[in-house]
Amino acid sequence: MQNLTKDTEMQVNKVCIMGMLRKADIKITRQRVYLAGILFNLPQGHFTAEELHDETKQGDLKVSLATVYNTLNHFSQNGLIKTLQVDNQKTFFDRNTAHHYHIRSQNKIEDVAAEDVKIALSPSKIPPGKKIKSIDLIINLCDE
Ligand SMILES: [Zn+2]
Repeated sequence: MQNLTKDTEMQVNKVCIMGMLRKADIKITRQRVYLAGILFNLPQGHFTAEELHDETKQGDLKVSLATVYNTLNHFSQNGLIKTLQVDNQKTFFDRNTAHHYHIRSQNKIEDVAAEDVKIALSPSKIPPGKKIKSIDLIINLCDE
């Protein structure tokens, strides 16, 4: 009986993932459903391609790191997730696609709601004929 419940939960989850992919206009493939299933069940909202690749090692579908990268970039281009360039060495991916900022302390990245950050930019800094499209902000913390 317990296995039946587990199978049903997995099935609902898979159907949900497939709906998310379709909504983002992403062609359904076994690997994409598999990777999306893992990433939307990760405990943390921000992750690297390497971390997601490590998670696939426990599953039965073998996926190369290059495929994980390509799939994440495709998901990002279609708005399913966001790309987060924290520094020159590491790219994180973010499941939270709503407008928000980040606080980074050591290796931990946490979301900050956009309304909790006030940014003052003099209008004279914006060239004529241009307007702000978006602002990406990562607040890096260190020990006092
Ligand atoms: Zn975030």
